Amino acid sequence: MISFELTQKQLAMQEYFQRLAVERLQPRSMQVDAAAPAGVDPDYLTFIAEENLNAFLIPKEYGGKPLDHVSLAILFEELGAGCAGFAAVYAQTFHSVAALLIGGSDEQKKLFFPLLLPPGGHVSSFCVTEEESGSNTSSFSTVFSRKGKSFILRGEKSPVINAGQSRFYVVWANEEGTRNRAGISAFLIPGKTEGLRFGPYHDKPGFRPAPTATIHLEDIRIPEENMIGPAGSGYLLLMQILDWGRALSASMAVGLARTAIEEVTRFAKQRVILKRPIIKNQSIAFLLADLVTELEAARALVWRACRLIDLGRDHTVASSMAKLYASELAVRATTEGLLILGQSGYKRPSLMDKIHRDAQVLRIAEGTSHVQKLIISGQL
Ligand SMILES: Cc1cc2nc3c(=O)[nH]c(=O)nc-3n(C[C@H](O)[C@H](O)[C@H](O)COP(=O)(O)OP(=O)(O)OC[C@H]3O[C@@H](n4cnc5c(N)ncnc54)[C@H](O)[C@@H]3O)c2cc1C
Repeated sequence: MISFELTQKQLAMQEYFQRLAVERLQPRSMQVDAAAPAGVDPDYLTFIAEENLNAFLIPKEYGGKPLDHVSLAILFEELGAGCAGFAAVYAQTFHSVAALLIGGSDEQKKLFFPLLLPPGGHVSSFCVTEEESGSNTSSFSTVFSRKGKSFILRGEKSPVINAGQSRFYVVWANEEGTRNRAGISAFLIPGKTEGLRFGPYHDKPGFRPAPTATIHLEDIRIPEENMIGPAGSGYLLLMQILDWGRALSASMAVGLARTAIEEVTRFAKQRVILKRPIIKNQSIAFLLADLVTELEAARALVWRACRLIDLGRDHTVASSMAKLYASELAVRATTEGLLILGQSGYKRPSLMDKIHRDAQVLRIAEGTSHVQKLIISGQL
């Protein structure tokens, strides 16, 4: 079912983005991490434009150069290795594009996909979570109602990555008067819609290069054509997007864990205590042996989930397993990394400190580890 051999094209892409991750994304991410949150860093937007990253998500007929999901996983692993926060900025664009790919009409794709393509680097947002409904996505306080040939939306979404800078927002809402899955629909909201307001950027420990804020929908009016799919199809659409997104967020976690393991290995070979490098201690060598083994396992889970997506086969549990395993590995690798680096890692700026903070987000966003276990155990 699955080949472990990458194609020449995939290998070339992997090598290319591996170099950019180390030479460009990682050094920049340390600077952005230390600064106050102020939107998506202009250097990242330039990177999106120069590498034409959004084209990888968009079908050819709408101006893109689409990659299959296994290739996207290879790309996301490198972005996650360079800067998980930036990978999350790009992942939000992926999620909103996925909403159109799965449920959008030809007219919607023609209208919204070009907004993401050069000239310039562009992002979009995926707006599900509310203060009162995070893990529970089966009803929302954000509501919509019909007025003639328009929809009126009212409510708040928080946190939203790329808020304030997105070309468009995909927003989930319940029809006024409903509080269940059947009442949920998804909408395309252009970035410059009247009544769409943004709160200040949140100050948070991890994913600092991925700016988040609250978006306020103050009785905004959008044309009826901006509903994605038929009324009431929003919950199913959301589940399908998350099934794709979790596999790719897992590949970001693989990249982050890889960076941690490489950093610890380098340190353990260099750090000499009592006249020998600390890697000569079995406790440290065995820990690294465990971590590199788990890294291979995590990547295999990711590629398997992505291959199932590409084959059009059931991938819900495979995606959840990949996300659960890879994000927990990212947390473990950085936690052990901080222990082994000792005082040289526990300071600022320190790459290990930064990625340890980033790793925590990977097991919260897009469904916590508990939620992944609910999905996996639900299929037993
Ligand atoms: C940095 C960051 C960026 C984000 N960006 C976005 C974004 O761009 N767009 C967006 O829509 N969302 C975004 N999110 C939100 C994210 O998807 C939610 O945080 C996540 O779904 C969890 O929801 P919650 O934080 O409200 O936790 P809650 O749902 O309040 O859960 C609290 C705790 O209870 C546990 N729990 C809940 N239900 C169960 C259960 N049935 N069984 C066992 N345990 C349970 C959870 O696992 C968790 O540990 C972002 C989050 C973060 C941290």
